Amino acid sequence: MSSTTTTDLPGTPEMPDVPQHLVKPNAPVIGRVHATRLCTRSRKAAGFVRHVEIDVSGTELENSWHSGQSFGVIPSGDLDGKPHKLRLYSIAAPTGGETGDGTIITTTVKRLIDEHWESHKLVQGVCSNYLCDLNVGDEVLLTGPVGKRFLLPSDPSKHDYIFIATGTGIAPFRGMMLDLIRQGMPSRAALLMGAPYESDLLYHDDLTAWTREHTNFSYHTAISRHTTPDQPTKLYVQDLLREDFDTLGPMLASERTLIYICGLAGMELGVFQTLAKLLTPEHLAQYITVPEGYEEYPEKWERSMIPKTIKKTKRVFLEVY
Ligand SMILES: Cc1cc2nc3c(=O)[nH]c(=O)nc-3n(C[C@H](O)[C@H](O)[C@H](O)COP(=O)(O)OP(=O)(O)OC[C@H]3O[C@@H](n4cnc5c(N)ncnc54)[C@H](O)[C@@H]3O)c2cc1C
Repeated sequence: MSSTTTTDLPGTPEMPDVPQHLVKPNAPVIGRVHATRLCTRSRKAAGFVRHVEIDVSGTELENSWHSGQSFGVIPSGDLDGKPHKLRLYSIAAPTGGETGDGTIITTTVKRLIDEHWESHKLVQGVCSNYLCDLNVGDEVLLTGPVGKRFLLPSDPSKHDYIFIATGTGIAPFRGMMLDLIRQGMPSRAALLMGAPYESDLLYHDDLTAWTREHTNFSYHTAISRHTTPDQPTKLYVQDLLREDFDTLGPMLASERTLIYICGLAGMELGVFQTLAKLLTPEHLAQYITVPEGYEEYPEKWERSMIPKTIKKTKRVFLEVY
């Protein structure tokens, strides 16, 4: 039996073995920015998020990654005389890249801008602002790819997908969706996207277009800080599981379905609590295992209980940062 194959739970996916760490931080390759654009729904969004495409042709990164993996970026400059450490960014491109020939790798990067809690000085994240400032043609040091678990299964057509994202957590799902679309969209997929304001939704026009082009794809949005004519109450992303249960309930009951969660650290707690409230014990056990006595009070669960007490099954994939 392959080390990545598991059969303990019905619907457990067989996962591919993918290469990682082909390019190490002590010998990064040079990529060149191919395109950069804002990917928020509106320029008036509260955050600045950019879709950045990087040409890696002729380097060891060319044709080397799978959707769902990440790559490393080493920002130029130094901190107290030492070179900056690399930061990881999720790959937003499909396997094979934007153009299908493995040359263009992409990410979705949010500028980290904040105020220091004590000194009240402006905090500008080093790497996110470096990446967002780059222009077409600029060089950038890259490593990777990284990640061997947050991937589509070996045969994607054997499963259906519920992708749950907040913010730049959308990045790997853009890549995975493009992989599925390039394979003729052989599965059902639902993408649940949470954002503070409507203006902060990412890749909104592309995702909306995909719902028109692919009847087995649905796109659901949750806006947490204001209401809209379509959404009369404020919603967090996990609330969509309940709000859109007509569509999502049959998927959640199916043995084909895998759940992928990506975005803000902590978002998994709300997702697991909501699943526990909505699903029968039999269906819940497809996604999480809960010790006896805990299942009746999901509202009392705390994040620290994951993963020791509340455990996800191999049909749930989690990447939060
Ligand atoms: C697997 C993985 C995938 C990722 N994918 C993506 C992605 O696709 N897109 C993306 O944008 N990011 C992604 N990230 C996050 C990314 O790696 C960086 O952490 C992020 O861009 C911030 O890096 P930075 O260099 O800009 O900030 P840094 O210079 O590293 O600054 C962050 C530091 O600032 C501190 N800080 C922030 N605000 C304040 C404040 N108010 N007061 C005091 N200190 C403060 C934080 O504690 C932190 O130490 C991913 C991370 C991981 C682990």
